Amino acid sequence: MNMDSTNIKRQQKDYWTLDKQHVIHPYTNFEKFSDEGSVIYAKGKGHHIYDEQGRAYLDGIAGLWCVNIGHGNEEIAETMAKQSQKLAYYNTFEDASSKPMAELGEKLAEISPGALNHVFYGTGGSMGNDTAVKIAHYYFNLLGKPNKKKILSRDLAYHGSTYLAHAITGISSTHMSFDLPHQLVHYLTAPYTYRNQGDRTLEEFIDFLVDEMEEAIIKIGPDNIAMFFAEPIMGAGGVIVPPGDYHKRTHALCKKYDILYVSDEVVTAFGRLGKMVSSKYLFDVEPDMCVYAKGISSGYIPLGATMISDQIHQVISKPKKDNPYFSHGFTYSGHALSCQVGLKNIEILERDNFCGHVSKWGPYFEEELGKLSEYGIVGEVRGSHYMLALEYVQNKETKESFAPEVNIGKRVYHHAKQLGLIIRPIGNLNVLSPPLTYDQKAIDNTINIMRESIERTIKDLIEEGLW
Ligand code: PMP
Repeated sequence: MNMDSTNIKRQQKDYWTLDKQHVIHPYTNFEKFSDEGSVIYAKGKGHHIYDEQGRAYLDGIAGLWCVNIGHGNEEIAETMAKQSQKLAYYNTFEDASSKPMAELGEKLAEISPGALNHVFYGTGGSMGNDTAVKIAHYYFNLLGKPNKKKILSRDLAYHGSTYLAHAITGISSTHMSFDLPHQLVHYLTAPYTYRNQGDRTLEEFIDFLVDEMEEAIIKIGPDNIAMFFAEPIMGAGGVIVPPGDYHKRTHALCKKYDILYVSDEVVTAFGRLGKMVSSKYLFDVEPDMCVYAKGISSGYIPLGATMISDQIHQVISKPKKDNPYFSHGFTYSGHALSCQVGLKNIEILERDNFCGHVSKWGPYFEEELGKLSEYGIVGEVRGSHYMLALEYVQNKETKESFAPEVNIGKRVYHHAKQLGLIIRPIGNLNVLSPPLTYDQKAIDNTINIMRESIERTIKDLIEEGLW
């Protein structure tokens, strides 16, 4: 380590070098990354993000589905400054608490559906899902049902990157070489209408998914299954909107077989779909547990929350004599500064009626983006409100995908970036999940840039003989 280096005035390229020498980036192809170099982002305001050279981009992905109230919010900055001067952190084990942590608990219980009145805090989504599993296992052990351990998930589900949450994640291409605890998980078919419906009608497709789930429950045995995880709309797996009453019917199966229903609302809560919580208010399902992160603090500070029902709480808060201790917790569970930011963020979301704004402009965004399906390489445009995606195909008739090495999502992403828009490439997809401040002008600019980027990509593909 060179101690003097910190005093040297650094250039942009020096940061790239430092980054490459010392930082391991999440979800990254190290080889490609070192060819392309990193982008050093320096500033954000509203739905714009700026790099070190001052170039502005429309942030079409809200950081990573999370900066819901937009970048550079001064009220949040003031809240942070005030709370950190007062009390940034103290542990919350046993009887220690703080006003922000208690007040945020009250607020989360208020916005959460049904009997979800109790919160366990963490710092993100993976931790929230791990907590949900540990609470479910603990709960069934206390109920004298120690075999109820298995987890039902779906192909293409994304639930996080810790050892357990990654195993619950159903994106098999990400599992390689990690030896995750898959024996705990059973993966069901994703409700991916575009790819999995086949020759069935929509009704038949939903029947197929529900029947498959019931058959799996019977085969594994309800006495061996603890829980079912579901994102209301699957995010990183491809913005997959479940058809019809899929959620209601899978939820009914969980009730029938005493399986806890966990709604992973890490992306879908806090306004992204025009509601504070989507499982109940869009899909009419009351989960036994709900996991929040991202939009809960609009990404200003790491914060996550696992909500549990009165029923689960009643059981876990009365441990048996031989097991009197709930031995689960993190240094930063209920971090005072994080909770205060969460409270302020929710206050802003509610006060400025972000749900109303997204409900108004979401359908316009969907409709305008939907028009891009006129292009020969756009197989489907899907999603809801401010959670949208385009899936590219080599052949629209057969839905044949582009070969992975074509890197189609990345190609469009590169053009869009050059034109001043950040979108997310995921394989054959581009995802759009902007800050909820996105207005008509930002939507129109985004669509225009997407149009131009797709046209440039088609031109490249033709020139290279790839289409
Ligand atoms: N669940 C869902 C639905 C997510 O989209 C994510 C992150 N993209 C996670 C869980 C994991 O959250 P984190 O990265 O904060 O651990």
